[in-house]
Amino acid sequence: MSTLTTKKGAKNGQGPSKKPASAGKSAAENVINRSTIFDEVGLPRDADNLYTQTVATMLQASELIGLPHEVKIILAQPKNEIMVHFPVRLDNGEYKLFKGYRVQHNNALGPYKGGLRFHHDVHLDDVKSLAFLMTMKCALMKLPFGGGKGGVKCDPRSMSSNELMRVTRRFCAAISHAIGPDYDIPAPDVGTNAQVMAWFADTYDSLTDSNRSTWDAFRVVTGKPVEVGGSLGREKATGQGVVDVCAELLPELGINIKGMKFSVIGYGNVGSWTARIFHDMGAKLVAVMDHTGGIRNDGGIDAHALASHVSKVGGVAGFEKGAGSSSGKKGSQGATRISAEEFYKTPVDVLVPAALEQMIQTEQANIINAKVIAEGANAPSTPAGDRVLESRGVEIFPAILANAGGVTVSYFEWVQNKSCTSWSAEKVDTELNRMMVAAAGRTKAARSKYKCDMRTAAYCAALETVGKAYAVRGIFP
Ligand code: NAD
Repeated sequence: MSTLTTKKGAKNGQGPSKKPASAGKSAAENVINRSTIFDEVGLPRDADNLYTQTVATMLQASELIGLPHEVKIILAQPKNEIMVHFPVRLDNGEYKLFKGYRVQHNNALGPYKGGLRFHHDVHLDDVKSLAFLMTMKCALMKLPFGGGKGGVKCDPRSMSSNELMRVTRRFCAAISHAIGPDYDIPAPDVGTNAQVMAWFADTYDSLTDSNRSTWDAFRVVTGKPVEVGGSLGREKATGQGVVDVCAELLPELGINIKGMKFSVIGYGNVGSWTARIFHDMGAKLVAVMDHTGGIRNDGGIDAHALASHVSKVGGVAGFEKGAGSSSGKKGSQGATRISAEEFYKTPVDVLVPAALEQMIQTEQANIINAKVIAEGANAPSTPAGDRVLESRGVEIFPAILANAGGVTVSYFEWVQNKSCTSWSAEKVDTELNRMMVAAAGRTKAARSKYKCDMRTAAYCAALETVGKAYAVRGIFP
């Protein structure tokens, strides 16, 4: 098994070396320039395009493991891209037309699996990339699932609960013929939560086979509330998985979670749970940034107090005014408001991006003062940003490994629903940890075998699993 090495100059609190970014192209960008597959399947060779970036990483890893050409072209495009438009009545009586997507990338290993995002900036290319990442993530975790992703272009923050429910129900109705408990199983993502999953499952149950039991129909989504078949531990699962991966990989970099400094971008489900679990293990949260702004406290921000502040007011802004601490000492855990630039410059051992894709571009990558980036979000950096981070010696724990805890506990939920059982919180945590540690081990083994970075290694390990499935299944007819 390989040993991760602390990269040049990345001493505690000093960040990585200030070596200038490589003028050369990254391995992924070289693949984009030379691979014929982009022309064969009709993809742009634009390195800044998120989908092109995802395919390039796959092709780079495919070359290392010798994946057959036919599997590469199958993976280079999703199997199905579904786009729907549907009208919804708003609270003021007017109707608005919404656009929704469901992309089913690959199902060689099992039913399509992946979240539903409600966000004003959802586009087909993003959904395709996220569906692709789900194929890789499920394969790396050795789950019996393929990859899918969906979303609705809307702004859930500006909608009432009733409007959100009607959008959810109409979207479910629009795609109900194309999903199913053993065919395509959505879950929560940015802008959706357990309540949205409950409305979705209820709608699916009402619209489809009336002879099937409700419990079976409800398997169509995971991430449900526990009252309707959700699993204990699902809400915190992605954050727990980030922490489990860090606990497995950080010691080899000489970083101890107890006492380490960390920062988080995005304080929603993934960011806030990661922060709370790290906090309880003795790590110090020193900076947070979300869509409402950034805050910093080198003495440590109370992750629990910040979570309850965000759940009340919708963002981290205002916490600096002295929001109190979970220990009850009001004002003792405040923070200073900071700019985005100050956030990225804050010295930390670990930075956890847990917001949207592509936030770490060249400019941010050049000023980040972290030894490790543990990717809670999917594809948080651009190829150019990645190249700068690589040249500066920042270690990256890639998203398909680091944030796989959510889909893993989704799988547990699906298994529990299928077998009409419910697991204890302890069993969920133990099984999750076992699977995260095993996947981290596969990634380290691939890194050692193929002498590559952690992201490429995670793809290599995932593609080996997908490649073996195609080798034994063959390609129809
Ligand atoms: P969420 O909606 O609960 O939280 C999103 C966070 O991003 C919010 O705190 C928001 O303030 C922040 N944000 C939005 N725009 C921002 C901006 N411009 N600058 C800074 N912060 C901004 O979403 P989530 O479920 O926590 O998902 C976060 C990321 O994790 C996404 O990339 C998602 O795909 C990924 N992910 C989520 C899960 C899951 O189980 N929820 C699983 C795997 C991966």
